Amino acid sequence: MSPEEFRRHGHAAIDWIADYWASLDDLPVRAQVAPGDVRRRLPASAPEQAEPFDALLADLDRVVVPGLTHWQHPRFFAYFPANSSPAAILGDLLSSGIGAQGMIWATSPAVTEVEQVVLDWFAEALGLPDGFRSDSAGGGVIQDTASTATFTALLSALHRASGGVARVDGVGSEQWRVYGSTQAHSSLVKAAMMAGLGARAVRTVAVDPTTQAIDVAALRGAVVEDVESGLRPVMVHLAAGSTSTGAMDDVAAVAEAVREWDVWLHVDAAWAGVAAVCPEHRDFLAGVESADSFVTNPHKWLLTTFDCSTFWVRDRAALTGALSILPEYLRNAATESGEVVDYRDWHPQLGRRFRAIKLWAVLRTYGLEGLRAHIRSGIALAEHVAALVASDDRFEMVTEPSLSLVVFRLRAGDEQTLAAMEAVNASGEAYLSHTTVEGRAAIRLAVGSWRTTEADVDRTWRALQEAAAAEA
Ligand SMILES: *Cc1c(COP(=O)(O)O)cnc(C)c1O
Repeated sequence: MSPEEFRRHGHAAIDWIADYWASLDDLPVRAQVAPGDVRRRLPASAPEQAEPFDALLADLDRVVVPGLTHWQHPRFFAYFPANSSPAAILGDLLSSGIGAQGMIWATSPAVTEVEQVVLDWFAEALGLPDGFRSDSAGGGVIQDTASTATFTALLSALHRASGGVARVDGVGSEQWRVYGSTQAHSSLVKAAMMAGLGARAVRTVAVDPTTQAIDVAALRGAVVEDVESGLRPVMVHLAAGSTSTGAMDDVAAVAEAVREWDVWLHVDAAWAGVAAVCPEHRDFLAGVESADSFVTNPHKWLLTTFDCSTFWVRDRAALTGALSILPEYLRNAATESGEVVDYRDWHPQLGRRFRAIKLWAVLRTYGLEGLRAHIRSGIALAEHVAALVASDDRFEMVTEPSLSLVVFRLRAGDEQTLAAMEAVNASGEAYLSHTTVEGRAAIRLAVGSWRTTEADVDRTWRALQEAAAAEA
């Protein structure tokens, strides 16, 4: 493809995206295909002869779109929406066009320095403590996902707690313990598995049945008990917005409760953290200045195309101590001078894309005012859903709404709740997901897209009411 052809096909690809968005409202939200349907429409082998690029765009319409669940659909309310935005997409495209590898400062200084500045901006925008900034002992880095960030936090915690032994000798015979509530994201157990501690190293702590937040006294009791039995607490994972119900663990109270042990506090605010761009929605992060690390995903609710997970640590020496390794072929004067950050020491992988461009593009194109308006609109729509739930006797709230997440059920019971949700999902009108809370089924409705309006919420609600009537 010549540069001139690239220009022409590039315009066509952008047109394709704009047309796709324009068509979303009329498409069923959830994919309507059976296993194997997409594969069957594709040839068994790659073409020997070059094909025109237009043929690929045609196959997007013919093969791919019918096999998609439309995450950018205005009535996608399942899981946590992972929204894209025009600014982020263009930023991502520019990053691909530049095609730089930012593994170390020397392989492209701008990749590192723009990322540092953007993360300092973003930390300030979220009201995070100065100790996470790049001009302090801490700093931020963009990870692919919150799962990787949590794994990285655990490796840093092990490095610190083992006095640097873990990176050389492995986890050894110490009986390390990691703590999280019953509502902690599954990536915590996965991190323990990947770190070689095993799933059993994670001690699960009870939650308050009403708020679903970690029971701080139970956490303290568990740590005391473990220490008395000779086990070594290494990290406490806090859910600042749990995946199931948006529950908020009390960061300040937990920090106070485990203060006497040198245990790493990791705050997982993967979904909710970005709401802190609004000063009035920051309370749930009270105490975050005691945290050793913090993660939030602009790729969930802040308009930044997947993947973009922003991760900060208070002591970057623990992080780079755990992960740095310098093969001969990467030796260079800048690294040796100690004046630069080499991000390859901040995450498991070596190579890295210029992901900061898309977050930079989002911050500049929307401005913090625009981002606050986006967050506020999601929260207002969730409050609207909660009012609709309250207005219909067949439904009830399960937990208090948490930011843009509403968790509710049919009073009739679990079977009816799940059947009503499945009826809406199968119809393609909207897409919702479920959870269980205190052993009972519940429907989750998470607002996130910049394209979702009150009319979309009302339409989804009518579909749910019809499904509830059919279940009655
Ligand atoms: C979504 C989510 C995660 C996992 O996010 P990834 O970036 O997909 O790894 C972790 N924790 C919480 C609380 C989440 O909501």
